[in-house]
Amino acid sequence: MTARQTDWVFHNGDFVHARDLWLGSGPQGLQYGTGAFEGIRSYASITKGASLFRAPDHFARMTNSARFLRMNMTQSVEELVNVSAELLRRNGHLGDAYVRPIVYKLALEPGTPFGVRLRGVSSALTIMSLPMGSYIPKGGIRCAVSSWRKIPGSSLPSAAKLTGAYVSNAIATDEVTSAGYDDAIFLNQAGNVAEASTANIFLVRDGGVCTPGLDSDILEGITRNSVMALLERDLGVTVVERTVPRYELYTADEVFLTGTGCEIAPVIEIDGRPVGDGAGGPVTKAVAQAYDRAVRGADKGHQDWLTGIAV
Ligand code: PMP
Repeated sequence: MTARQTDWVFHNGDFVHARDLWLGSGPQGLQYGTGAFEGIRSYASITKGASLFRAPDHFARMTNSARFLRMNMTQSVEELVNVSAELLRRNGHLGDAYVRPIVYKLALEPGTPFGVRLRGVSSALTIMSLPMGSYIPKGGIRCAVSSWRKIPGSSLPSAAKLTGAYVSNAIATDEVTSAGYDDAIFLNQAGNVAEASTANIFLVRDGGVCTPGLDSDILEGITRNSVMALLERDLGVTVVERTVPRYELYTADEVFLTGTGCEIAPVIEIDGRPVGDGAGGPVTKAVAQAYDRAVRGADKGHQDWLTGIAV
């Protein structure tokens, strides 16, 4: 995503206009994919004002992803949350909006020899924001299993949200959208279900709910975690994290995706086969409703997920 030229962005400790940002002739992060990023949503709340959803969790994950690339975030998680709230305020993005922080390798420091490396390279942090409502059709989406497999954890850890890894997600999405589908489902190297291009996946079978475990080469989604908590509390359903064979995609009663961007997305078709009756299902609907209440501040039990943006 790109900020509008007239909007503010937070760059290396200062608020500047996007049009004044100059990234130089070739940041290392652009050349080698050595960056870490997040996507955070903020929502207009049911009462008044707007709130960031689980922003500290996103910045904690980003701090770890950055650390893995030997980048130390100069701001604490709390400072980064405050900066994001201030950014939304300055930009007037007080309805539903999206915050994109990215930290990336910039340039070789003096004395660092030429090459692909993590040490001896400076870094930069940029945070931008954009108005953004729900973009998934309420009726659900059609997915296909990509022929591209998930990058295995032995090559790149999926727990870190690293820019370079998304080349794989882009080619998988390109493959299936070229064939007329909405999103790609990745299998891992073992041929079991991993996740969608930018979302985790849940399956409902006989009232039980499962999702691929952390050993299936997935990103440990914050929406995934929220959904597990809501399902447990509201429906008394404990989500089972386990290996999910591909076969189950075609025999599940319901399938839905979870992610900050797509929120709760019902999957109504996979590889040309209807999921369940092809019209979404009761568990997916209950989860989507509970999630919407939580993000908009209507859930008294989960106010701790929200950071209010004072105006
Ligand atoms: N998997 C991948 C590959 C993603 O890019 C995302 C989006 N961040 C997710 C899962 C869902 O993560 P979250 O719920 O934290 O947005």
